Amino acid sequence: MKIERLIVGWISSPAMIWRQGEDPETQLRFPIPAYLIETESERVLVDTGLNPGAVRDVAAHYGPQAAFMKLEQAQDVAAQIDPASLTKIVLTHLHFDHAGGLALLPAEVPIYVQRLEWEGGRDEAAIQRNFFYPRDYALDGRRIELLDGDHDLLGDGSVRLMLTPGHTPGHQSVRVGERLVLGADVAHFAATLDDRRFPSFADDFEAQDRSAESLREMRDAGAIVVPGHDPAVLRPGLVELG
Ligand SMILES: [Zn+2]
Repeated sequence: MKIERLIVGWISSPAMIWRQGEDPETQLRFPIPAYLIETESERVLVDTGLNPGAVRDVAAHYGPQAAFMKLEQAQDVAAQIDPASLTKIVLTHLHFDHAGGLALLPAEVPIYVQRLEWEGGRDEAAIQRNFFYPRDYALDGRRIELLDGDHDLLGDGSVRLMLTPGHTPGHQSVRVGERLVLGADVAHFAATLDDRRFPSFADDFEAQDRSAESLREMRDAGAIVVPGHDPAVLRPGLVELG
């Protein structure tokens, strides 16, 4: 089994939106990762990055409330992998920087997402609270596999999806092998696992704190917990399975 990190874009915006307590004047530019997990018989994409339409004009694509961000894309996800070879797509959650690239990928590939997340993406109050953009995941005719909590994705324990709610209603993290945990946006930055300076918005801060605590315990027990968007940590290329 091998796992590769793709950097599919960048977000620039005021830092305090993503890390509470930052100076209001400070701007932050951080990477958007996606991951390709390959086994002998499977090619699993974890998250899909940005939609090219949003990169071209974020306010036109999502509305004026999104204009506080600048989005950049070097190469979209479909240009970095062979999309036709994918066997599964995992969405850690439905935010635009994780689900926006779905439209670039073949409709036959099943999408694995938590039921709580999928239902949140159809609930008007949850859409508002979470800054979901339904056009990212309005995908008629796609095969959606709704998960109710932790899930053994390949049936052999090698890739385990873990429900880690709070950032969004049904956020999930991905354990690959015994030691590597893609925490996704439970913690945007490595330091967030300890200082709990979450973004300024969340579906449920208390749930996010519990999810961060469980990932912190895994890290302290020897796991490598990868943060969601830490520019100091995330580099493209093969990721050590530990
Ligand atoms: Zn994100």
